[in-house]
Amino acid sequence: MVKKNGIALVFDIGGTKLESVVIDSDGNLLGKIEKVQVPFTEDKASIDDIFPIIDSKLESAEKRNGTIAGIGISVCGLIDKESGDVVVAPNLHWYDVSLTKLLSERYQEPIFVATDTKLAALGEATWGAGKGYDNFAWLTLSTGFGAFFFLDGKLFEGERGFAGALGHNTMDDVNGHPCGCGRFGCLETFASGRALERNAQAAIDMGHKTKIKEIANGEEIRAEMVFEAEKMGDETAIKLINQLVHYAAIGIGQIINILDLNLIIMGGGLVKAGEPFMNRIRAAVKKHMFCQEAADEIEIITESLPNPALFGAASLVFMNMQNMSESNEGISKG
Ligand SMILES: [Zn+2]
Repeated sequence: MVKKNGIALVFDIGGTKLESVVIDSDGNLLGKIEKVQVPFTEDKASIDDIFPIIDSKLESAEKRNGTIAGIGISVCGLIDKESGDVVVAPNLHWYDVSLTKLLSERYQEPIFVATDTKLAALGEATWGAGKGYDNFAWLTLSTGFGAFFFLDGKLFEGERGFAGALGHNTMDDVNGHPCGCGRFGCLETFASGRALERNAQAAIDMGHKTKIKEIANGEEIRAEMVFEAEKMGDETAIKLINQLVHYAAIGIGQIINILDLNLIIMGGGLVKAGEPFMNRIRAAVKKHMFCQEAADEIEIITESLPNPALFGAASLVFMNMQNMSESNEGISKG
């Protein structure tokens, strides 16, 4: 699947962190994954300040590792699959940013930009737990709730490349909360880190007795604080996490029923709550599955690679290199 030639320099631009590393064509990390804050100017991620970060990584990668096959970039937003432009990345406040063009003007190396969920699925398919599977779904349960599908042995992108907007399936738009997408009652307003935080704050505001308030100690509530209170046996935290599991499981069950899958790979901050949380998800999902055989066989596991999106970005680089060299061979043979 991947051509052995050079190394890939890869970046993952998340909502707050920018990770980078060098990966070879066998999927080996060459060095440690490095993490810095995404530079922002006012409330917008600053491309001008991201350039020097890429410059320095490129320089040191060339010195240490030699030939760079390409630069792969994962972005937490919707990327047009043809142009590689950022259509929208809400957390970075990027709207219609020609990222691929800007980077291609600055760097000699081939540039490949894609959305993080797509690259995470590709990373797991190429070098992770999805290797050898023809069908699986990658899910990320973090601030939001996203998905990407690997079907019939390849990534399934949809007409525009936006397939997998699981979190924006309507769960209840009559009673549901407003969603970042502009609509009401999307799945991720019930099942996501942001939903958990909002509901915990509402419980505190309503006067519910809960340890979450003590743990927060005046700070803004974060999902991990709710998990911490739950471990201490806090009734409110238990209820809030039960709600989250309930709605997440409905969403996951729908995916399995529609696509008939045997494997779900989950990443994202909430999954880091550990195996007891994952076991509750697994048990709850089975209740929503239509096919008993699938319910017996479904595996729901956590990501198998340290930041699979970085591996996916590398896989994308090497796959494109291979396609280019094949078409060149075609030209020279013709
Ligand atoms: Zn939505």
